[in-house]
Amino acid sequence: MRIGHGFDAHRLVAGRELVLGGVTIPHELGLLGHSDADVLVHAICDALLGALGAGDIGRHFPDTHPAYRGISSLKLLREVMTLVRTRGYAVTNIDATIIAQKPRLSPFIEAMRENIAQQCATESARINVKATTTETLGFEGRCEGISSHAVVLLARHGKSG
Ligand code: MG
Repeated sequence: MRIGHGFDAHRLVAGRELVLGGVTIPHELGLLGHSDADVLVHAICDALLGALGAGDIGRHFPDTHPAYRGISSLKLLREVMTLVRTRGYAVTNIDATIIAQKPRLSPFIEAMRENIAQQCATESARINVKATTTETLGFEGRCEGISSHAVVLLARHGKSG
């Protein structure tokens, strides 16, 4: 078994869509980034790469590369999962937390879990997504950005627990 942790943060700005877990969420601000800036999926990609001992998302998908400009981060997750499978592993479970003061994310959590599960070729019962505020503390609390943490557990194919 292999465990991995990922963390990411992006700045909130006007004129961008807010995409979290592949779900476009109605909000007056969106996350700034080279891709769709899906901070949740980026944290999950980094956790998966971490579990493999395969570096990080920036190494695999450089943010200077035109191919990744505006790309759906679910596509990056799909590519990371190809690497996971190539190395002989499958996802046992993923647990992630989004840290955002606004907007309220609970109506969108199930759709995020399903999107992530689909890319990971597993059932949504193995994917947990939580959302919390910081009670207005820090950059997330001031609505300057959104961050996310993720931990994953991988097992050898056929032993996914
Ligand atoms: Mg990122």
